[in-house]
Amino acid sequence: MSLDILTLYLVAAVAGVMLGGMLLFFGRQQKIPTLSWWGAAYILGAMSIGVWTVAGSLLGDTVALALNAVGFVACGMVWSAARVFHGRKPNWLALPLGAAVWLIVILCPPDESSTMRLTIGASIVAAYAVLTANELWSEQRKGMQKRWPALLVPILHGFVLMFPILLGHMLRADGSTFRSSFWVPIFAFELVLYALGTVFVIFMLVSDRTVKAHKAAALIDPLTGMLNRRGFAEATARLIERQASAGCLVTVLIFDIDHFKSINDRFGHAAGDEILKLFAIVVTNTLRITDLSGRIGGEEFAALLPCSIKEAACAAERVREAFAASGITVENAPVETTVSIGVASGPPGAELEVLLAAADAALYQAKRGGRNRIEVAEEESLSLERRRRRSAARPAALASRQTSVMWPI
Ligand code: GH3
Ligand code: MG
Ligand code: MG
Repeated sequence: MSLDILTLYLVAAVAGVMLGGMLLFFGRQQKIPTLSWWGAAYILGAMSIGVWTVAGSLLGDTVALALNAVGFVACGMVWSAARVFHGRKPNWLALPLGAAVWLIVILCPPDESSTMRLTIGASIVAAYAVLTANELWSEQRKGMQKRWPALLVPILHGFVLMFPILLGHMLRADGSTFRSSFWVPIFAFELVLYALGTVFVIFMLVSDRTVKAHKAAALIDPLTGMLNRRGFAEATARLIERQASAGCLVTVLIFDIDHFKSINDRFGHAAGDEILKLFAIVVTNTLRITDLSGRIGGEEFAALLPCSIKEAACAAERVREAFAASGITVENAPVETTVSIGVASGPPGAELEVLLAAADAALYQAKRGGRNRIEVAEEESLSLERRRRRSAARPAALASRQTSVMWPI
């Protein structure tokens, strides 16, 4: 089968321009700068290949070779796209460096052999491919998993380009020019595959990041930056499981800011929001790093501590004191801020909902007892299953009375 090299390169160029156009369009529409960079790089690179293919022989050797510099700028732009994707700035010095080296190579020494130029040209492309792979690899280290295609594609690209150079004699096998080299159709194929592969990679990276951002948004309370009720439930489920397998207790705290409605009414909703943010800081700074906390309602917060009820009550007391002493002022007037806290503990494996209900009952007692205080649930909260079994064993009337004592709300 004989392949027409020019047709192959033209197909690669047209595919590149089309992919680039789509990336650019999508990037601008969705306001994703990395896609715009990537798209612009494709268009630029593909156009340089297209012009070189169609008009290379008309332009004369030097101009045709100089045209490759545009392709090297495009490679630098793909690397920049990877940097932009990670929130870094493009490296404006290194981006055009490959093109500058190339121009010096073709202008300075009169070189008979195209092999040396090809070696330098392929090295430039491979260097940008390695930089791109390195950029993507550093993101993988930051916890993004299953990223091997993101590394494989640029590395393969660099390898395909470097392979004939490593086996330099192959290029010289027929001792003729670049166009007649055995590797030229291989490069054309590889170019198309690389273009398609990197589009897949970039979309995979962008969608991975978007999914992560949406997931985080669904679990985080935007006002305080703490976990919301759902996030708290998810995070605590893992901690409860870990504690259960170690046969250890967990304790839940529920915090409810006192007379918060009155704070809103007197000082306005914005001041109320500031107080919520401050309370979140007090909780986060006062509890230990191993404790989990979140905002589970308007002015209600919760925490799960992997410790006994006694230790947790001490931690709750520290939060109460710190908040009462926070000395908040609104328009230079001091605002009295206090919090009531309910504490409840459960055996290893107790469900979060059960612990929250028991802590809520204790909180209710704290409110009834005058607020700005801590109340500890006396009975260890059982799991739902054990509670059901226990209720079934008791006479119905007694069971319902016991339940109303423990969960008065
Ligand atoms: P108590 O001492 O019994 O807890 O009384 P309270 O006023 O704190 O409780 P109540 O449930 O009557 O009022 C809670 C208030 O919290 C009412 C609601 O407007 C306010 N709130 C809920 N979410 C937010 C919020 O995101 N920002 C602000 N500023 N206020 C909020
Ligand atoms: Mg409340
Ligand atoms: Mg309240």
